[in-house]
Amino acid sequence: MNDTRRKIPSVSSLVLAAENKGLIDSYPRTVVTNAIRAVLVRARAAGGKEPEEGWLAAVESETATWRALSLKRVINATGVVLHTNLGRAPLADAAKDAVWKTLEYSTLEYNESSGTRGSRQKHVRAILKELTGAEDALVVNNAAAALLLTINTLAGGGETVISRGELVEIGGSFRLPDIIAKSDSHLVEVGTTNRTHLPDYENAVTASTKCLLKVHRSNFTIDGFVSEVSIEDLVRLGLRSDIAVVHDVGSGLLIDLAEFGLTGEPLVRNSVTAGATAIFSGDKLLGGPQAGIIVGSSEIIEQLSKNPLARVVRADKTAIAGLEATLAIFRDRDTALTEIPTLRMLTVDGATLKKRARRLSRRIPGSELIRGHSSVGGGAFPNARLETTLVSLATDSCEAVLEKLRSHSPPIIARCASDAVLLDVRTVTDQEFGIIADAFAG
Ligand SMILES: *Cc1c(COP(=O)(O)O)cnc(C)c1O
Repeated sequence: MNDTRRKIPSVSSLVLAAENKGLIDSYPRTVVTNAIRAVLVRARAAGGKEPEEGWLAAVESETATWRALSLKRVINATGVVLHTNLGRAPLADAAKDAVWKTLEYSTLEYNESSGTRGSRQKHVRAILKELTGAEDALVVNNAAAALLLTINTLAGGGETVISRGELVEIGGSFRLPDIIAKSDSHLVEVGTTNRTHLPDYENAVTASTKCLLKVHRSNFTIDGFVSEVSIEDLVRLGLRSDIAVVHDVGSGLLIDLAEFGLTGEPLVRNSVTAGATAIFSGDKLLGGPQAGIIVGSSEIIEQLSKNPLARVVRADKTAIAGLEATLAIFRDRDTALTEIPTLRMLTVDGATLKKRARRLSRRIPGSELIRGHSSVGGGAFPNARLETTLVSLATDSCEAVLEKLRSHSPPIIARCASDAVLLDVRTVTDQEFGIIADAFAG
């Protein structure tokens, strides 16, 4: 054994030192010994060198790391409102409160007036009917699960017809053909990438056709020589041939945002009015928790509920609670635009953003204001370029500054231009300004 190796302390001597320091009282013994082993492994890899802060201090900070939870709250200064990697939609205060309350015992599946078993769907069914105009509704784990359940129930063992222009991939692992195959339905493609007409669907209908599926393209658009068949026309064909029509509208837009320059996303209500079964996410433009929502006729919703897969993909109590409270806010359009964080961030006016950016900039020495753009994210309004005012801090090592911001507690996520760190206040709350200022000062 060489000299440096001999300087590495033994596990038992460090356990003793940790005991004397009271570490074993504050943390479980196994956590402390695991931390000691990790420190020793690192020291051996570094040629046996003692950590700069000393052996015991290294063990102490390693122990704290072990105890820290992996899933952390972060500050999103990227300006991407529905940032998939950062958990999509932040919840409204009322929804957070509602989620918090269900962490005790709750009336999840209990009817308190009769003292008998109830349905978890009861908490969201009525409000979904009210907001979308549908006869009935069902909430599951996410929109991918909603589509799987719906296609399996309506078209399992039969054929599902879809336009070639709508065979999309959304996110890394959501690919339409794969979901349809896993739903035990045979995919029949009609039309072409850019143009699909009603006769394409009509000619594809056979005795085995069980579903006409329309999918919103969500994360991209195609322009130029294009045409697609409206949901109204598809429903008319479905009625003529006694085939179910399903519309995966994606982002779950409950109120029209055209007056804010945001167009191109289908409104849930329009698909319901047309007579389709509509599917959408809870945590995109709806601004609620992760959930998949299906609205349509009582007959179809009942069929879906009876499929054993409904149990496999059911929504958990925190999602039901957050969703009920979020949906309740939509009863009043103006309240929804101010209290649902995603809608507030998307529709805030330029003057307010500039004023807020100036306030943050004053707390970050050397920073200046520049014009820039935020994006919607989450595969909604893919072409929208929302004008914003950015707080910009010139630096020759942007990546190093981003890393320092990420290592702050809570981590702050920003972006880089060629020679500056950029912070977009659109996705930051006023309460978070102080934390950001501290991170730059520290
Ligand atoms: C986002 C999206 C999905 C998947 O939704 P999840 O809730 O993430 O499962 C499905 N279809 C469309 C059209 C979407 O935009």
